[in-house]
Parts: sequence; C-alpha cells; structure tokens
Amino acid sequence: MKILNFFRKPSFARGVHPLQHKETAQTAIRRMPFAPRLVVPMSQHVGKPSKPIVCAGQEVLRGQVIAVADGYLSVPAHAPVSGIVEAVDLRPTLSGEWLQSIVIRAYEASSQEVLYGEQIDVDLLSAEQIIQAVQDVGMVGLGGAAFPAHAKLAAPKDYPIEHLLVNGCECEPFLTADHRMMLEWPQHLVTGIQFAMKACGAKRALIGIENNKPDAIAAINNILPADSNISVHAVKTKYPQGAAEMLVKALLGREVPAGARSYQIGVVMHNVGTLAELGRLIPRSQGFIERVVTVAGPGVTKPGNYLVPIGTPLRFVLEQAGVTNESVEVILGGPMMGSAIASLDVPVTKAISGIVVFDRSAMEASQGNVHPCIKCGECVNACPKGLNPSMLGMLAARREYDVMAETYHLDGCFECGCCSYVCPSHIPLVQHFRVAKQVVRERQAA
Ligand code: SF4
Ligand code: SF4
Repeated sequence: MKILNFFRKPSFARGVHPLQHKETAQTAIRRMPFAPRLVVPMSQHVGKPSKPIVCAGQEVLRGQVIAVADGYLSVPAHAPVSGIVEAVDLRPTLSGEWLQSIVIRAYEASSQEVLYGEQIDVDLLSAEQIIQAVQDVGMVGLGGAAFPAHAKLAAPKDYPIEHLLVNGCECEPFLTADHRMMLEWPQHLVTGIQFAMKACGAKRALIGIENNKPDAIAAINNILPADSNISVHAVKTKYPQGAAEMLVKALLGREVPAGARSYQIGVVMHNVGTLAELGRLIPRSQGFIERVVTVAGPGVTKPGNYLVPIGTPLRFVLEQAGVTNESVEVILGGPMMGSAIASLDVPVTKAISGIVVFDRSAMEASQGNVHPCIKCGECVNACPKGLNPSMLGMLAARREYDVMAETYHLDGCFECGCCSYVCPSHIPLVQHFRVAKQVVRERQAA
C-alpha cells in the first residue's frame, strides 16, 4: 500500500471535478490600454474605506497616492493613470452599492510608466517595516477576499507562526491569472514569499499548486535553491482545493477548528498573486494600481489574461476582450463561486481575478428546470464541509433559517457551490444558503 501513497496527491475529502476550461493558461499576460475615464472606489477592501486627499480639477500622476488609509484595517489608493480628477463623489460599484469614488479623466497620452516610487533595499527592512510597506502598497488579498494583506501578516503575538501557506491552486474553472503569474513572475513570487515570511515570522513556506499546472510547478522549482525553506507541493486537481481549509488539510494534514482563524494553528495563508505583486512592487515602493484579470468564457472572442488598471469600467474591459454581443451573462470570479452582475458600468476593483462571459441562452439552458429533491444524496457526497445540503435546502424552502443555523451548521457552509453543481434536480442550493445566511446575520444584528 505504501507505494500507492507515493502516487497519491495530497487533497481533502469529497469535492467535485468540473470541466476546467483553462484555455487561457497558454496566453501570456497582456497590458490593457487606458479607458478614457477611470473610477477608483474608496472601499475595495475589508475594513474602513480609504480617505481621498485629492479634489476635482487636480492633476494626478500614475502611481501617486490619491487616498490614504483610514486607520489600521484600511489601505491607501493610488492613481492608476495620469490625468485630471473630475469628481470625488458617489458612484455605482460591483456590489450594487454607490460608494465614494475618485473619478479620473485619463490624459490621452498617459504613459504606462509609473511616476512614483523609488528603489529601496528591502534587506534592511525589519518585520514591522515590511508590514508597513505592504500597507503602503495598498495591497489586499487578491484571491477574492480583499482583506488588507498587511493585517493578515501581523498575527497576534501570542500565536507564533510556523508556516506560510501559499495558495496557487486556482481551482475555479476558466481562471488562469494566478497560473500565468507563477509562470511569468516566479522571481517576484519568491521575493514576495521571503518578505511575507520575514513579516509574519514563518520558518517554512509551502506553495500548494494543483497538479494540472506542471509548468508553474517547474518554473518555481527551477529558481529555488536546494536548501530553500520554501517548497512547492503538487496537490490533487479537485474543486474546491483552493479554499483555505482544504489547502491547510492538503498541505499540513491539519484542520482549522470551527470558529478559529488559521493563525491560531500557526498558519498564515496568502494567494500567489498577492505575494507576486508584493515582490514586484515593494522593492520599487510603488502602489498597487493594476492587476491581472482573466477574461474568458464562450462569449469572449479575445480571451486572455490582461493587466487591467484598477478603476477601468467593466464595459471597456469586455470591449477590449472582444465581447460585442450585449446579450451575455457576466460572472465575476469563476462560475462556481462567482456572481452574476447587473451592470457593466462599474469599475474593476482590486478583488476581481476573473470575468467569465456566457451567452445568456446557453447559460439558461445549462441551468435546466428546477425539480423536487429526489433524495439521491449526491450533494451530501460532494460537500467538502460534511454538511447535509439536501436537508438545508428543504429547510430553506420552508424558510426555517434559524433551524438551519442552530441544528444544521449553516455557518459552516462557505458557498463553494459543489452541492448545486451535482444536484440532478438543478436546485440552486448555494443561492438558498446565501439568502439564509444573510437573513440569519440580519436577525442576529437586530
Ligand atoms: S455550498 Fe455549502 S453546503 Fe454546498 S457543498 Fe459547498 S460548503 Fe457544502
Ligand atoms: S443532490 Fe439535489 S436531488 Fe439529490 S439529495 Fe441533494 S438536493 Fe436532493
């Protein structure tokens, strides 16, 4: 039996295997031109919104700080383009909320060159100085959570950090931005990992990459010295391997206790994109003003990985990627955990890793008609959290939200969508659970 373990890739129980559609993994990162007008929301992260320090009519240069962090759990914002500030007012955002934003009319001849920042010797920086530098960059978790990256690195002193886990799984279908960054920026990634290890005090860093990305695994291994305290681990290609709890289980064989944070078991986790960007920006003390976004799906004629200035309107991004049909369904993030958006007249923010575009009729056809639950148990077999989505779904239909929370661990659901994916009755289980969680939150807050 032991020989079998050699071939077995670390992973977690249950999960699903959706078609991967990773065609854009072969497409090198391309720079997107500037839109005529960019809108930078002050709240693109968890925590307090940034505070604007520019006003209408003022000239700003690409890379200049245009808003400062408002306290510890906040980050600054930088100008993604050189131009004139047209307004500082409320604008619509991806969530549907109108948020305070800085609107910049781009100079037609704005250079791609970043006009702010200077080379610094990062070897001289202490752990505290690195954490401050991460905040100054304006970096947030690029895997989608948008938690300020510096706050994640500064774990409470009572919890010594043993391991930095680096999430390079990118298990959602269609998304390949992280894959391309690992391939094209491996040195930035390793530099970012070294900063993060120094900042949080981790003795080892483990990079988890799904085994469907052998080129990325090789690219990083090729530049690591033999005695490095950074190691690369191929994990099984299975959704949702990239969820934090699943990766902790796969890489360390440990579980994060219910209700606990990973630092409480001596672990800090960051996405590969976050660390590659830190490795790229901190040595030049530059702000985070553009990010790699996968634009893919059957509705896109020029799919690829684009370096998109923060604040670029979604409509402009889709036009550049060859989406001409208005009758499309646009999903932000991947199809498993992403959400459809109602308006294209909102800006790309720091948390957007992918935009997947479907033809609307194909989308409707693929969803199928909803039928009653046939008690097949497929959803129970798929749930990586060991929940009973079938029972939760029945309770949701009866709006028994409190029973869902108190008896069936609704709060354990992290909305991965595996149950909806496998359900032969096409019951939109995860949507029901999102609504239920929202209602429970509101009741608890009342
Ligand atoms: S969405 Fe929730 S209930 Fe459904 S499989 Fe994922 S964790 Fe389980
Ligand atoms: S997968 Fe769908 S039909 Fe089967 S038990 Fe779960 S909810 Fe019912």
